[in-house]
Amino acid sequence: MKFGVSYFGNRIFEHVREDFLRLWDMGFDILVHTYSENDFAFYRETMSELINYGSDMGFENWVDPWGWGGVFGGEAFSGFLQMNPKEGQVNNLGEYTGGVCFLSRMFRDRMKEWIDAVADTEADAIFWDEPHFQMNTVDFPKEWTCRCERCRSAFEERYGYPMPEVYNDDVSEFRSESVRDFFEEMTSYAKEKGLKNVLCFLPIESDSFGIRDYEALVRLETIDNVGSDPYWLAFDKPLKEFVGSASERILDLSKRHGKDHHLWIQAFKIPKGKEEELKIAYEIAKEKGISTILFWGVYACKHMSHIAPDDPERVWETVRKILDATL
Ligand SMILES: [Zn+2]
Repeated sequence: MKFGVSYFGNRIFEHVREDFLRLWDMGFDILVHTYSENDFAFYRETMSELINYGSDMGFENWVDPWGWGGVFGGEAFSGFLQMNPKEGQVNNLGEYTGGVCFLSRMFRDRMKEWIDAVADTEADAIFWDEPHFQMNTVDFPKEWTCRCERCRSAFEERYGYPMPEVYNDDVSEFRSESVRDFFEEMTSYAKEKGLKNVLCFLPIESDSFGIRDYEALVRLETIDNVGSDPYWLAFDKPLKEFVGSASERILDLSKRHGKDHHLWIQAFKIPKGKEEELKIAYEIAKEKGISTILFWGVYACKHMSHIAPDDPERVWETVRKILDATL
């Protein structure tokens, strides 16, 4: 079993060093570094130093476009959207919704600059974190994105009629295709730069997030590793079934398409008394055949009040026990 953890919330090197040593001693193999738009704008050299230190210590390093453009997972705002509102997703009522359009050329070019910065470090992979369409839309599919000018003109060119305001199968297919096209370009670019591509799906394979079929993305040759994050408490789902079925789906896809795989276990926002559920989730994933497990996130997110567990020490201790049992 290989273990990983996400690292965020600190950019002070002397503390980074201390943290990484602790994580190494605990038995982690992989570090997932959040690398937000804010980090890219103001901490570029700092991030290189941090990632390279992880690499020198012997960790495998995955780098996460955390919250980028509002289309990746993560508690980070998008400066790109703030400066370039016209690149945003527009809903069928004609309103901007707060996520970047997957067809935005400007955004894709900005992401490539970020990939260049990551490739200049000793990072091993880009960790494409929970790509999704805007989730602020209420009452999907009555309200949906994206119906911006770019999307309307591309849709009409492909389907031979104006993009409708009412959601239909063509719109659904068009959205899927937009995401696939985005990843084809981004992951090819990352690959050319010598980086692997690790893709993590939101745990609900659904049209409402825009990834209605994981397989369409897993098929891309440039994707090396696929996974998901069945956070049973965050999504309010039954633990065994949610973690079990996500494990099965990921294993099936990875085997059929010859990719590596991974799975995340929730180690944030755990209510008091539910700490032992992490062990159950781990046992289920292991039993299904998952061989790379990651935890979100470092120190059970004690330092991030929005997602901190009621008793972070106890959650982190549970993580430690899981790792100890396999050492
Ligand atoms: Zn659009």
